[in-house]
Amino acid sequence: MDNNTNTTNTDRRRRIMLINPPTGLYRRDDRCQSKVDDQTVRVVFAPVDLALLGAIARQAGAEPKVCDYPALNQSEGVFIADIKTFRPHILFLNSTVHTLAKDMELVAKARDFDPGILTLLHGEGVVVQAEKVLRDYPQCDAILDGEPELTLREIVTTVPDEQTLWQTPGLVCRDGSGTPFRTGKRPLIESLDILPLPARDLLNNKIYHSPENGKPLTVIQAQRGCPSKCVFCPAGSMFGYVVRERSVESIMAELKECVEKYGITNFLFHGDTFTLHKPWLLKLCDAIINSGMKIHWGCNSRIDTIDDERAAALKKAGCWVVAFGFEHGNQNMLNLMRKGQRAERAFEAVSICKRNGLLTHGFFIAGLPWETKRTLQQLYLYARKLNTDFFDFNIACPLPGTELYNICLQEQLFVHTDSSSYAHAGVRTLSLSAEELTEWRRKTLLKMYFRPTYVARIIIHAIKTGTIKHYLAAALSRVKNLVKTT
Ligand code: SF4
Repeated sequence: MDNNTNTTNTDRRRRIMLINPPTGLYRRDDRCQSKVDDQTVRVVFAPVDLALLGAIARQAGAEPKVCDYPALNQSEGVFIADIKTFRPHILFLNSTVHTLAKDMELVAKARDFDPGILTLLHGEGVVVQAEKVLRDYPQCDAILDGEPELTLREIVTTVPDEQTLWQTPGLVCRDGSGTPFRTGKRPLIESLDILPLPARDLLNNKIYHSPENGKPLTVIQAQRGCPSKCVFCPAGSMFGYVVRERSVESIMAELKECVEKYGITNFLFHGDTFTLHKPWLLKLCDAIINSGMKIHWGCNSRIDTIDDERAAALKKAGCWVVAFGFEHGNQNMLNLMRKGQRAERAFEAVSICKRNGLLTHGFFIAGLPWETKRTLQQLYLYARKLNTDFFDFNIACPLPGTELYNICLQEQLFVHTDSSSYAHAGVRTLSLSAEELTEWRRKTLLKMYFRPTYVARIIIHAIKTGTIKHYLAAALSRVKNLVKTT
């Protein structure tokens, strides 16, 4: 982290603070916006999105500071102290629907200290209700709409005041009369290669660990966009419905920098449909293999875009785990959520991974409006039969702007809007209460964990890979969490 002390606002260089505010540990840049503690595999990802914006700010001649307060378990007091010492001209926050009110309290405090700070908000759940946010929170100057990088570059370069901000595309801000105003969509970035590599020197890279082996882990943003339109997911509205991949050369340059400059050899390739374009994927795997870098990584895949050739290449290039959004074992539920996949195909995807030596992580969703006791039982049996190495059951958590959110509004399914999360249902289904869903998830996870064959399998894997300490710690904290919520 930067350590600027007693900077004054008379300095010529623009200073920008890019933060995950100390209002809870969430996947703030992610389409899920989930609470980290709600996930089976508790992993805090490095805020590479902020490091990328830091690199953009530097290119524009500004001085960036990145602060990931929740990851460091730092309080509001540390944030205020940072505001006082760093004296930012611009404060950029990653916000979520779950933390918005608290995030805004912090912004107000920063503003109390320096009314001249330009305050910018970013977050998928926030942008869809941006007009309301601007009306409710005068301390927020603008909300970034769409991909933030080029918009931020323009803001940092031109440093508009509140009167001229509304001329910058890609924002929701106030016009001359103070009325919320959308400045117009900024086109998606055509070639992601125009972006600089994330400025990882702005991050405390050592605090982000692989849950598997405890070694430093970072995220590589390999692609953006998803062609699917699942009712619960904002991926398409965030990054478009066409997949844009970075070039293999650009990704290799980033991997090399991580390994050589930062000593990081564990990675998560972030991309909603990482295995979609086979030639690109095979070329990337070949490049990793030929580079001789010994790296350990995981990625996502759709169940219908994995085959033996891809899986073998992934394994050879250092991939150890592939995550799949199986979602549900009831085909009608899959159709209603517009997942565009066959439940049966999941078995083939898991088999392909197994025979190529890859572990699998299954994500399932429970509690969509059409869920019943019968479909929940089908979901449990499906997950058992798939028998993946890791699994998560997420309760449907409607994010504003998604089709699911509109359906829940229409059917009046919201019950606990404030406490809604992937572990605690905030919506009921047409036939089940929110409490039934929360309890089903808790009991189902415990049943899944305590299958004797599963416990034996994980212990054998942990012993073989010398990671028993990490698995034990993860298992204890997970089970404690689940028992605690009784
Ligand atoms: S496949 Fe569905 S859930 Fe996955 S990223 Fe695309 S829209 Fe979201």
